[in-house]
Amino acid sequence: MRQSQLFVRTSKTSPKDEETVNAKLLTRAGYVEKLMAGVYNYLPLGLRVLRKIEQIVREEMNAIGGQEILMAMLHPKEIWEKTGQWKKLDVLFELESRTGKEYALGQSEEEVVSPLVMKRVSTYQDLPLAAYQIHWKFRDELRSKSGLLRGREFFMKDMYSFHEDQKDFERFYEIVKQAYLKVFQRAGLVAKVTEASGGAFSEKISYEFMVLTDAGEDDILYCDTCEFCVNVEIAKQKEKDKCPKCGKGKLARATASEVGNVFDLGQKYGKDFDLKFVGRDGSREYPVMGCYGIGISRLMGVIVERFNDEKGILWPESVAPFQIHLIDLKGASAEPVYDELTKQGIEVFYDDRDASAGEKFADADLLGIPWRAVVSPKTGTKIELKNRTSEKTEEIDLEGLIKRFS
Ligand SMILES: [Zn+2]
Repeated sequence: MRQSQLFVRTSKTSPKDEETVNAKLLTRAGYVEKLMAGVYNYLPLGLRVLRKIEQIVREEMNAIGGQEILMAMLHPKEIWEKTGQWKKLDVLFELESRTGKEYALGQSEEEVVSPLVMKRVSTYQDLPLAAYQIHWKFRDELRSKSGLLRGREFFMKDMYSFHEDQKDFERFYEIVKQAYLKVFQRAGLVAKVTEASGGAFSEKISYEFMVLTDAGEDDILYCDTCEFCVNVEIAKQKEKDKCPKCGKGKLARATASEVGNVFDLGQKYGKDFDLKFVGRDGSREYPVMGCYGIGISRLMGVIVERFNDEKGILWPESVAPFQIHLIDLKGASAEPVYDELTKQGIEVFYDDRDASAGEKFADADLLGIPWRAVVSPKTGTKIELKNRTSEKTEEIDLEGLIKRFS
């Protein structure tokens, strides 16, 4: 893609109405644009990042047998009445049509997916199964000032699993947990799993996947030796310094951001909708369900909170909009380099604008594409390669560049 043709420009100043680093940098760099508080448009480069994260999540959900579907966002009131959430769940957007009929905008999809799946399950032999979607969600947040971290409209992967009993749910939960840790690792993050309260979804325990960031809205205690981690809110007094799990490690306190969650839904939705299957002993039973979320737009915000410096964003390679930011300076042309890299299937963002070196370098730093490749009269046929996180440059020829990135 040519930078000269991109209809979005970067900005030298931060938007006045944004408080968080992710919102400031993503807006300045032209990845997103705020339509109103908690609602953002994704511009060409921002959409590329969102799609990269989405694809990582999709691959890992497919790898554990998740079946992708796409469910409606506009829901009839009746299904939310069935689960007792209509006029009760404060974050549910409820709206009325011109004929007076009432609807909800999806904020989670148990009300849709439970009948959809169980209609097709007759016996325990049809279980377990897991269906997921990657779609927009809506929450009527009172306060929405954290950029992509807490949106009124946000992009999310939500998976729902159906099991014949609690034991099988717990078996599957462990599989999902490993898949989630893989997702966050592939996105360049270190996540910790905490136990938290279930909130509106569930009377049972839930799990949260937390990434350590200064901008986080939760306080957690984690062990420096084993994987023990707990939200400070529910930590027991005796857990304040020594790890209760391994007994050896010390507990450290940190702020963290939630990037994923798991809810043990028990049999609630089976009961609410009267959805049963024939169990092993021939009796009719309700399924045990699990719900598993990953906020994809939120993850994009968390990555920016975690990886930035005073000049801009530092995208991990796995989610960067492009692999290489190719720049030509006055007196040289990178056209043949751009053509060849593109032909080889390497993702290149080419700054072919008639602009000063200073302007081009500042934009490259702000945009945060992991590798910068410069063609200038000084370097001749060589290309000057630099990583966004380093001051060191190296000279490389086109062949070497292709080899490195394909
Ligand atoms: Zn420990």
